[in-house]
Amino acid sequence: MEFQFDLIVVGAGSGGLAAAKRAASYGAKVAIIEVNKVGGTCVIRGCVPKKLMVYAARNKKDITSSEGYGLKSERISFESNILLKNIREEVSRLSNLHKNSLDKLNIKVFVGLGKFISPNELEIICPKTKKILKKISSKKILISVGGKPKKLNIPGIDLAWTSDDIFELDSFPESLLIVGGGYIACEFASIFKNLGTDVTQLIRGERLLNGFDEDLSSCLEEATVLAGINIMTKTQLKSIESSNGYLQSTLDSGNKMQTRNILIATGREPNLLPLNLEFLNLKMDGAYLDVDQLNQTSNANIFAVGDIVNKPNLTPVAIEQGRVFSDNLFNNKNRKVNYEYIPKAVFTIPEIATVGLSERRAKEIYSEKNIKIFKCKFTPMSNTFKKNKSKCMLKIVVNKLTDKVLGCHMFGETSSEIIQMVSISLNAGITKRDFDITMALHPTISEEFVTMYG
Ligand code: FAD
Repeated sequence: MEFQFDLIVVGAGSGGLAAAKRAASYGAKVAIIEVNKVGGTCVIRGCVPKKLMVYAARNKKDITSSEGYGLKSERISFESNILLKNIREEVSRLSNLHKNSLDKLNIKVFVGLGKFISPNELEIICPKTKKILKKISSKKILISVGGKPKKLNIPGIDLAWTSDDIFELDSFPESLLIVGGGYIACEFASIFKNLGTDVTQLIRGERLLNGFDEDLSSCLEEATVLAGINIMTKTQLKSIESSNGYLQSTLDSGNKMQTRNILIATGREPNLLPLNLEFLNLKMDGAYLDVDQLNQTSNANIFAVGDIVNKPNLTPVAIEQGRVFSDNLFNNKNRKVNYEYIPKAVFTIPEIATVGLSERRAKEIYSEKNIKIFKCKFTPMSNTFKKNKSKCMLKIVVNKLTDKVLGCHMFGETSSEIIQMVSISLNAGITKRDFDITMALHPTISEEFVTMYG
């Protein structure tokens, strides 16, 4: 059978764009199908617009808490419509940059929803009219359709927002209930609170950021309370009703509360349904597509990358999977994605960053007696003249038997920038002694990483 393309990529997000561009750079004839704006979650409704909001919140907090530095701030006001409009313009600019680079590489972009009709063929459907716009075929197909926010199955759920809706707002609400304790929920709680919204955060369990090192969760909890965010633990939302311009939430305790809006941030799931995959009988890994080390599904011509596979759902991971896929398939390389020591951040204020094993996980793997913890918590110098005396925390998890550093965790300003660099050393197999013989850079927060003695 003659195919129109060497590769069809379904979804022009982080993973799909990276794979399409890399494949085309090797001379492959590539098509990409995208139902929304080119750029995907990260560029359009994730990392990028969120981080721009974090900068707004951080700038406001810095200015309004710096009277001790002689910076008076009586006249600071926040006009959320300006921020939201600027973010939308920036996101469009970035989307156009991606589109231009696809054009330059002769990658054909099809606008619409991709739907499989055979293992090598897809229909492109208009999402509004549901009409079939085109059928295209290819030797290989890469699925990179990403995830979507999970919705709670409770009465009135359609009245609530998901993270996608935040970037479509005209202005910020005066009060907001955020449901969820994961990184997206925590980041939005911090953004909204620092920009003037009254925030309550509802979590089902006892702690924020399940799965992160527990000292990081505790530091964030302290800072969250200090910032004036009302955290309600062991509480679930049971229903939502609209009432005089407010939303009324009923909690599992029977208590009711009113806020202008509600944001549901209780996790994400693969967005596979519109692809019509059932007839292909692809092997699944729970809700995710099962793939091997080459990101090949159980069908030899169909591959998958990004948030639809059961690996850390992060932009750099999706990008690397996409590039490795194309390097292997279109340039005969024999590459594998390195999933060791993936750094992660939570862009709250102050922020969290982490790489490697948490204390709990290291003790589970190597036994408690073989793990040594180095930890310090202090008020950073930048807070000396501030009313806000929030502390920072640095922690190193070490294997006592080999002296190998298994994890580094940090809570405090610029921790994401610091942990990105620390992750290089962990990847290279650094020991605690290497940290100890490294000269400190003074005065910094991160110098504590090389001056902690047990
Ligand atoms: P996506 O980037 O989601 O792209 C999938 C694309 O496929 C979308 O454009 C979608 O419209 C399209 N599509 C879906 N179905 C079809 C179809 N049937 N036909 C055609 N097109 C289709 N990660 C980080 O590393 N750092 C962060 O700080 C960070 N912050 C985040 C904040 C938020 C609020 C969210 C929601 C996510 C964040 N992430 C972050 C996660 C990151 O955005 C994702 O891991 C990453 O975008 C996954 O890339 P992907 O290629 O798998 O999918």
